[in-house]
Amino acid sequence: MAETQLQHAREGTVTSAMERVAERENVDPEFVREQVAEGQAVIPANHHHDALDAMIIGREFSTKVNANIGASETTSDLEEELEKLHTAVHYGADTVMDLSTGGGDLDRIRQANIDHSPVPVGTVPLYEARRQVDDVADLSHELLLDVIEKQAEQGVDYMTIHAGILMEHLPKTDGRKTGIVSRGGSIMAQWMEERGMQNPLYAKFEEICDIFAEHDVTFSLGDSLRPGSLADAGDEAQYAELDTLGELTQVAWDYGVQVMVEGPGHVPMDMVAEQVERQQRVCDGAPFYVLGPLVTDIAPGYDHITSAIGAAIAAQAGAAMLCYVTPKEHLGLPEREDVRDGLASYRIAAHAADVGQGQPGARDWDDALSEARYNFDWRRQFDLALDPERAQAYHDQTLPGDNYKDARFCSMCGVEFCSMRIDQDARDAGDMDELDDETDLDASPAAETNVPPVGTHEEADVPDQSEYIDLGDRVHADDD
Ligand code: SF4
Repeated sequence: MAETQLQHAREGTVTSAMERVAERENVDPEFVREQVAEGQAVIPANHHHDALDAMIIGREFSTKVNANIGASETTSDLEEELEKLHTAVHYGADTVMDLSTGGGDLDRIRQANIDHSPVPVGTVPLYEARRQVDDVADLSHELLLDVIEKQAEQGVDYMTIHAGILMEHLPKTDGRKTGIVSRGGSIMAQWMEERGMQNPLYAKFEEICDIFAEHDVTFSLGDSLRPGSLADAGDEAQYAELDTLGELTQVAWDYGVQVMVEGPGHVPMDMVAEQVERQQRVCDGAPFYVLGPLVTDIAPGYDHITSAIGAAIAAQAGAAMLCYVTPKEHLGLPEREDVRDGLASYRIAAHAADVGQGQPGARDWDDALSEARYNFDWRRQFDLALDPERAQAYHDQTLPGDNYKDARFCSMCGVEFCSMRIDQDARDAGDMDELDDETDLDASPAAETNVPPVGTHEEADVPDQSEYIDLGDRVHADDD
């Protein structure tokens, strides 16, 4: 009997989740079914996640963004964790990963996250298993399977499984500049070295498939050997693991389990598209879920930017989901504003790629905002902005009054030099129509529009731009 979205799709059934996804993506439900059936897209939707609003991850659909949340040794309060979930969803996360590694009752926190989350919840079960033993070497096959099963029963929609890192890959990391930077990867490597045995998540992969098939948990095959620096990008270790991930993708599909594959990391700009194309080839088009990648290593404190650049290129090349990076990356635990900055950066990257790829309806947003901007409809601009609160706060910092909400300028260029106002006045006056090759631009009426427009204010009141901040009602849009 079909249990997973993949199995249903293969049988030709359009599930209610597929219907919902089609509605959200503005596409035909049959197209959704085909993409899922072919493994080109996943709908992470655990049977036990009642609060979920189904979504889809695949290169033919809008690019998704994941935000990491979770308790650490220093933050562990349930309320605080739910606040993190709320913040992530509020600022546009399409999925969240609960990466709790310490503190508090993690079972309770995970359950609360699932109960309250309208977006898919992902986890790394290896972290919880690691917490239950004193030493990495004490991790047993049974414990790993037990933790995975318990989390599947709780309603986790997708899990990062570090099954691709094998004993034979480890020597390939010896010459690396930054070794193994994946947390799960470093744990598995240490386990294999100390126990002298093959990766237990690889050894038990088929049993994990059985659990995932029963609850419809989606694999997120972890890239344990992702490069942690530009110097290590595209090395033998990374690509050897990718080949294993390609094999595991086929195994999971044989079990009717949905799969996405995780990717780097730190990659120079000129290699990003090539890496996406390689993953798509090796993993037969399974959705690629990338962390960044950071395209330079030199900017701690700004890694939401270094990585969003790589993320935009990766998404344009076919990556389906982007795992956000905050400004605190490599430096500390992100706080609310860091989450906000990270998500904004990644939603920009995702949307830019959607526009570039011609995703249905993506450009409409840009066009609507541009129209509001040219019409000086400030309220609509704020509403349409990716981060409305920040857009309005920045505008109102210098021009706070209500009378500036339809002003034909802002404090950036000021009244006299507002190019859009100048342009509109010229067009309204019909001056633009008269321009041709013979026009003497210096003497043209358009040049004369570089003064405050009639009706904006009395010439005598034209202030020095440096005074705008304190002028209050002296500068206003209309003289009403
Ligand atoms: S003043 Fe400059 S930035 Fe502001 S609306 Fe006019 S053209 Fe745009």
